[in-house]
Amino acid sequence: MFKWEEKVVKTIEKHTQKDLVKEILLWKKKREAIILAHVYQPGEIQDIADFTGDSLFLSQQAAQTNAKVIVFCGVHFMAETAAILSPEKIVLLPEVKAGCPMADMAPAEKVKSKIKELPKAVVISYVNSSAAVKSLSDYCCTSANAVQVAQTIPVEKDILFLPDMNLANFTAKRSKRKIVPWPGFCSVHHLLTRDDVIKAKKLHPQALLLVHPECRPEVCDLADYIGSTRGIINFVSNNPTKEYIIGTELGIFYPLKKNNPDKQFFPASEKMICQNMKLITLEKILYSLKNLEPRITVPEDIRKKSLKALNRMLEIT
Ligand code: SF4
Repeated sequence: MFKWEEKVVKTIEKHTQKDLVKEILLWKKKREAIILAHVYQPGEIQDIADFTGDSLFLSQQAAQTNAKVIVFCGVHFMAETAAILSPEKIVLLPEVKAGCPMADMAPAEKVKSKIKELPKAVVISYVNSSAAVKSLSDYCCTSANAVQVAQTIPVEKDILFLPDMNLANFTAKRSKRKIVPWPGFCSVHHLLTRDDVIKAKKLHPQALLLVHPECRPEVCDLADYIGSTRGIINFVSNNPTKEYIIGTELGIFYPLKKNNPDKQFFPASEKMICQNMKLITLEKILYSLKNLEPRITVPEDIRKKSLKALNRMLEIT
């Protein structure tokens, strides 16, 4: 156990949840901090956040505040994106081991070699990638705007799309562009099978099926709506249907139920839990605020290049 982990364990023993929240809010004020929580985070963490949402939205919100410290309750690449957009702020990731297996499937060195193999291809990287990979890219994209970004690339050009092959295939289909997918995938969304979905549909025949584009193509083919986490949340808010089968990480049930108490939600599969997203706890947030660690930083040359790719996306969308 690392020294800082021992300190966290001691902190846990000392606090009840109510006391913890009180103390977090005090330290948040003292540090002039804001707390960001991805919608896959546990409910008690979403409850104390200043902003909840998807990763890019959170980093953009944080950049617009005067906060000196950002506490990012999410995974490593998300905190890096916050550091790219807010270089003057301290960015904390309360659990430094909270990584993203999909982002890790595209290490920068391997991406560099692939770019050498395809020198004429335009490189689009999904925001769920490391800062180093973003810095090698021509454009970034989100799951909400991947199709729009790809459509700006001339049809005769090849696109190297990374790291998610399922989002790449979805984007290729909708944008009608020639996409070379990187062979990565989200271990949570890729788990969902066509059989899981058929079973859920049989159990809830009246429900609409909403899935994330990180799901397999054969799963997306059965969906009534395919969209980002924000897209799914907005779809439900604007739709009169009362029952939904949800094909994304189960943390999204918290805002869905909170915002729509009159509607019912069923998981497309109970297996869709991102363990990395559940590593952050209230105790670790308190520790981070008190000690201003673990900090996430991005070397300035990588930050500038990544920012360029992010800005090129924002210019389009
Ligand atoms: S849900 Fe998937 S993409 Fe998101 S952090 Fe977990 S493994 Fe990565």
